[in-house]
Amino acid sequence: MMGTVSAYIGLGANLGDAAHSVRIAIDLLAQLPQTRLSACSSLYRTAPIDATGDDFVNAAVHLETQLDAHTLLAELQRIEHSFGRERPFRNAPRTLDLDLLVFGSDTIRDEVLEVPHPRMGNRAFVLLPLHELSPNLEIPGLGQIAPLLALVGNQAIEKLGSDR
Ligand code: AMP
Repeated sequence: MMGTVSAYIGLGANLGDAAHSVRIAIDLLAQLPQTRLSACSSLYRTAPIDATGDDFVNAAVHLETQLDAHTLLAELQRIEHSFGRERPFRNAPRTLDLDLLVFGSDTIRDEVLEVPHPRMGNRAFVLLPLHELSPNLEIPGLGQIAPLLALVGNQAIEKLGSDR
């Protein structure tokens, strides 16, 4: 495709059947306009960080998209809202969280969008699925994934058996 950007999305869910929510969200991401889902990671189970409630199920997907970053963010939020996300307080348990992790080589810092995602560099639940997808990915401003992963080895994360 002409004018496509390689984008990485992080998925997380921790309410109800979280693995099911993540699988449905991946299907919805595959249907985004002007976008191709080129790979999706295994599903992982992680203990909550900065949040309350049950364990999370996390995954990452690689998209090739012709959407601009803000349009892509709006599409992610539309999918989140379709899951009936309730946020009664900050870091409340959520049914589905979609984060735009990386958008090509872009660095974006504005009121609605920060890319690369500001907290991705120290979160095993982001780095491990991303590493599975693209072990040599260069994260703008952060560099390679492997050395970052080495620093978060203390965070509990378990790969789930996957049918994808
Ligand atoms: P949260 O409730 O933690 O998912 O945060 C959602 C808010 O983060 C939204 O208002 C987004 O505008 C903002 N945001 C900033 N950067 C990003 C990003 N890279 N991916 C997703 N949301 C982002």
